[in-house]
Amino acid sequence: MTAIIITAVVVVGLIANGLRLRARVPPALPAPPAPPAGSDGDWTWITSRATTVDETTAAAAEAYAAAEGLDMLDVVPADLPSTAARDLLRAVDPGKYRTNRLAIGRSSGTAVLVARAVFERAGADVPDEPESADVIASARRIRPFTSRHGAAFSVAPWLRSGKDDLAKRPARLRANGVIVGVHLALDVIPYALTIIALLTGWEWGLAAVVAYCLQPCMIFAGTPMRPRGLYVAAFLRPVHDPYVWIRTAAGRWRSTADIERDAEIAAATVYYRDALTAGTSRFLQERRTGCPWCGSADLSVVVRSPDLVMHKPGMFTLERCAGCGHIFQNPRLRVEGLNFYYRDAYDGLGTADAESVFATAGDSYLGRARMLEPFTVPKAWLDVGAGHAHFCAAASEVWPDTVFDGLDQGAGIADAERQGWIVTAYRGELRDLADTLAGRYDVVSMHHYLEHTRDPFAELDAAARMLPLGGYLLIELPDPQWPLARLLGRYWMGWFQPQHQHMMPIGNLTKALAERGLRQIAIERGPAHQANDLVSAAFLLTARLAPPRTQPWSARPATLTVRAWRGLAWTAGIPAIIVGLLIDRTLIRAAALRLDRGNAYRVLARRENADDDR
Ligand SMILES: [Zn+2]
Repeated sequence: MTAIIITAVVVVGLIANGLRLRARVPPALPAPPAPPAGSDGDWTWITSRATTVDETTAAAAEAYAAAEGLDMLDVVPADLPSTAARDLLRAVDPGKYRTNRLAIGRSSGTAVLVARAVFERAGADVPDEPESADVIASARRIRPFTSRHGAAFSVAPWLRSGKDDLAKRPARLRANGVIVGVHLALDVIPYALTIIALLTGWEWGLAAVVAYCLQPCMIFAGTPMRPRGLYVAAFLRPVHDPYVWIRTAAGRWRSTADIERDAEIAAATVYYRDALTAGTSRFLQERRTGCPWCGSADLSVVVRSPDLVMHKPGMFTLERCAGCGHIFQNPRLRVEGLNFYYRDAYDGLGTADAESVFATAGDSYLGRARMLEPFTVPKAWLDVGAGHAHFCAAASEVWPDTVFDGLDQGAGIADAERQGWIVTAYRGELRDLADTLAGRYDVVSMHHYLEHTRDPFAELDAAARMLPLGGYLLIELPDPQWPLARLLGRYWMGWFQPQHQHMMPIGNLTKALAERGLRQIAIERGPAHQANDLVSAAFLLTARLAPPRTQPWSARPATLTVRAWRGLAWTAGIPAIIVGLLIDRTLIRAAALRLDRGNAYRVLARRENADDDR
């Protein structure tokens, strides 16, 4: 019986995943126009040193990119080696990649065609004789500069790919945003299950082995891709896969980007070691005895949590006021403590991770932008706490004629201006800039911003001061009243220690708004829910047991034991993360909509003459 169940899980899983990857195979390039038009200098090719772009491919790609209005085209050789071909499809869904402007730049690392103007604007610095990982890094850098629907993938039947060097595979995976250990763990799970099926009942187990071997053919048969070595990789898969894993795990080759990052980490290690010599208690103020919202002294601990996201040392406490329900960090961080914990979170070493998180919230961004629809057509919109301006880039799909500007303390906001995701970037604090910016914007938004600030009242004062009469303030916050917040304890992402300083129940926020002449005109609770509670909790728990990377603030070197433990923990954690994701996207999302409650809420308020209410 066990064998039947495991076999069924393996076979269904392999087929479902095979079909998912198969649907991702990019279309083939149409044949070039005859006679092929010569390269007219409007294009730049970035090609790996192992690749030579033949004339047919060059002409076909340039004609196709021009016809489709593309700024960047990743040209995938049809004979990309089978491991690299599967890696590519696992890293990117080319169809969604084209329509989602927030999608992070990905590449097969072979040949990328870029419009010369875009290449120059992005300032992409391609090393001489680039390796695949360097080509991918360039695509990643250029992608945010491409226009809407301006980046795509296609398969070139004529292009020959270079030899697959498995020692360089980890660098290639990293360049495509993959955590190598997690990628390998995802490979080991179906393999391990297949072996367990075989051991529990070989007749059924054999069916699992057959499905395991056929899956690569199922992905590519009848598609434009004809991966080199596909049949060996498929029919000998039970021995071929472990060979590939071992070669990959042993791969120590570092790309240019890896070497630069190694240097940044080395510099950061020195900084953190110095910063931590005096301990972390100096980062915290005295514990306060009264609620910052209402003054009540009736406080109790909600959650105690270490830094579960970055794993920097320290322990933090959130307390709840019985008088008004406000939840706040107590004792709270001093400014130098905030600087320490925010360092490398959204810029510096954390830039890529922050981008991956921001890039996944597309639907949430659109929901926020659409909240204005019944009330106004925004002319000028300032997003406060804009991060890298992902919200603005997404919202301009809803409001194409609105001018979006962004304000943030991080360095990412200046890049957003260069990319054209916003018109003007303001780097600094709202409280300092509010008077200068007064009257310029008919909409101001703060998404997941107030909870990070030391004094939310002062932020609301500033927003009220800068909005004209009739102007709108849109706020989205994590909802501490969401039942899963209590249930998941410190592993509820919304608590986000030590970054979150204040967590307000919706009633407290609308009252504070009303006191500033900002009348609530719409709220959203169920629709604001982001279906990520269990997946984040499972991720945070796994990462707590085994941080996926060695961090410059951790003294633990990545010894063989540490790496083996990491592999084991993630192999066990990933199934839990996947199950969490499925429950989040089905049951919990449905419940959130049904109950009109969620892990976040949105409030839209309009500034009115304070006298109107009297
Ligand atoms: Zn209170």
